[in-house]
Amino acid sequence: MNGSRAMEPAAYLDSLRPAGSKRSSKRDLIVNVFLRQEGHLTAEDLVELIRREESARSDSSPAQPRMSRATVYRTLQWMVEAGIARKVDFGEGRLRFEHSYRHPRHFHLICKSCNRSFEFLSSDIEALLEEVAAARHFTARQSVLQIHGTCESCRTGRASTVEGGTTELIFARDALRIAIATERSGLEFYSRAAAMTRDARGRRVFEKLAAEEHEHLGTLEKRYRDLLQQDPQLESRPTFLFFKGAANGLFSAATERLRQGVDDRQALMIGIKCERGSHRFFKRYGDKFEDSEGKKIFLEFADEERAHLALLIREYRSLVERQRRRGRGRGGKRRPRRQSAALS
Ligand SMILES: [Zn+2]
Ligand SMILES: [Zn+2]
Repeated sequence: MNGSRAMEPAAYLDSLRPAGSKRSSKRDLIVNVFLRQEGHLTAEDLVELIRREESARSDSSPAQPRMSRATVYRTLQWMVEAGIARKVDFGEGRLRFEHSYRHPRHFHLICKSCNRSFEFLSSDIEALLEEVAAARHFTARQSVLQIHGTCESCRTGRASTVEGGTTELIFARDALRIAIATERSGLEFYSRAAAMTRDARGRRVFEKLAAEEHEHLGTLEKRYRDLLQQDPQLESRPTFLFFKGAANGLFSAATERLRQGVDDRQALMIGIKCERGSHRFFKRYGDKFEDSEGKKIFLEFADEERAHLALLIREYRSLVERQRRRGRGRGGKRRPRRQSAALS
């Protein structure tokens, strides 16, 4: 048992049970069967699965009455209210249900030929939805986005070999890819800033940050390799989390600015802006997800960025103070600093 994993199903169910309420073996059976499913089930699908489960068990307890359809429907309704299940409507004239246990919220692609649905998420779309809601002073509770059309295997007639896999694993894979990309561009930024900074102490800060980014990059890459062990096809499964710019783009833009030439103070200030933006992005994004490995990856990364931010702010203040004292030593007159573009 890996201590870093999210809550186990039994603990998860106990956490949802109202205080003082009794366990019900029927309800537990329905919930457990439901949590084992990966796709989007209709209520009838679930009834069917429960009946199959019951007949598999009937050797041990032949006297058990069959679970009624009404019990399954009632329990589904309870699961929706308790936040275990989410209702999804693909416009087929009946509802489907998916569980939310370690299963991050997402959008859907729906194939009209085979009726299968595929999950995805995009931080850019989410940011845009939030922006629209905020501009209209609207409190958003839920955003539904569906793309209807024809899937690749229906269009080409070839069965896709990489579909499937659990959303949780794919989400963790994508969260790690994003963290790794951000870490890489952070490393590039700090290495360049260290090479350019003339203030000895400021340079050591950038070198320290570059070393930290380098070390953490190694940790993230190892975690990525460990994750791949859990599913040999994980690497080639379709992208779940689409992610254009956000924090990664911040550092790339900052490195570009360094190329144009900045002084020590400006370099520190650019670093501060990047770390602050990166921390905010990963914290806000990570906070929104259901308990999952991907959520953990985002929140741990946010903590690391916050530590870097604190270090940079301390250094910035101390550099300003040193420069002020040095300036006074020279008779209080501050000369404009020359740019060190020659280093780039
Ligand atoms: Zn299809
Ligand atoms: Zn779904």
